[in-house]
Amino acid sequence: MVSWEECSKTQPRVVKLLKNSIRKQRLAHAYIFEGAHGTGKMATATVLAKTYLCRNSEDGNPCESCPNCKRITSGNHPDVHIIAPDGQNIKIDQIRGLQKEFAYSGMESSKKVYIIEHADKMTVQAANSLLKFLEEPGNDTIALLLTEQVHRLLDTIRSRAQTLTFSPLPPQGILEKLLKDDIPKPVAMLASSLTSDYAEALEICREEWFAQARAKVIQLTEDLRLRPDYCLVVLQDQYLSFFKEKDQLRLALNLLLIWYRDLLSIHLSNSENVVFFDQLQALEQQALHTSQKKTGEALQAILTAQARLRSNVSPLMVMEQLVLRLREG
Ligand SMILES: [Zn+2]
Repeated sequence: MVSWEECSKTQPRVVKLLKNSIRKQRLAHAYIFEGAHGTGKMATATVLAKTYLCRNSEDGNPCESCPNCKRITSGNHPDVHIIAPDGQNIKIDQIRGLQKEFAYSGMESSKKVYIIEHADKMTVQAANSLLKFLEEPGNDTIALLLTEQVHRLLDTIRSRAQTLTFSPLPPQGILEKLLKDDIPKPVAMLASSLTSDYAEALEICREEWFAQARAKVIQLTEDLRLRPDYCLVVLQDQYLSFFKEKDQLRLALNLLLIWYRDLLSIHLSNSENVVFFDQLQALEQQALHTSQKKTGEALQAILTAQARLRSNVSPLMVMEQLVLRLREG
């Protein structure tokens, strides 16, 4: 069961604002909840609906035990409507259906809430139909439009609603969600430090290739440390044949960057920040044989390699030069 407290963990600002509006009885008639996938828009919409319809709401919190709260928890309250894309789009018939439902008075009171998921997927006709609905002096109705792409909503709709921006999850929040989704921790740690979009992180983790790429980069750091000359020899066969596409090589460089940041963390005695936490021993070994200054130079060399790759220098040349610089460290 979602609660304000739960939502507040990731979206403290939005929750504070909404609860204040509830306490002062100054909720707007329409809100746009915009932000990346997985930032808690639907959970927040549900708690808001519950608080609004609760019979014994106190200090901006739903009681969780009245019939309204219970029906919203079980997802079958007659005065809370949720619309989601039917296939690719939200169609005009779906909006008309909503208007029809809302023409009848509410079961318990006149208070009603409707939630439109992926509101940016409304067809132009659907959006215009909704617009008329928003323009009607909607007594006790609250509209919640959820979107990951707010710029795709009609300006006319945006101007009639209050937009609340849901912040991207911090790496820790993404990590926790990935772990809940049964992603192994080493992979989850790495993915959550690569992106602040939960959906993207999950997709990365679910690719078999990503775990292999991680292992490959760990192998590269070992080769650099223990067999620096051999490393150059096998660069093409062992590494570039695996990181074939430019995107793949870009990712490899990002992973390498994280590895050297970890190394820096160890130099600074911040080993609790290490992303490659299951490689702590290897990192500590490496730290013994290099200095903080050298590690900083290695980070710089990786950033330079990334820039060279972007400006279309051949991958082999970029990597050869990088390996030469890294093995000096
Ligand atoms: Zn209640």
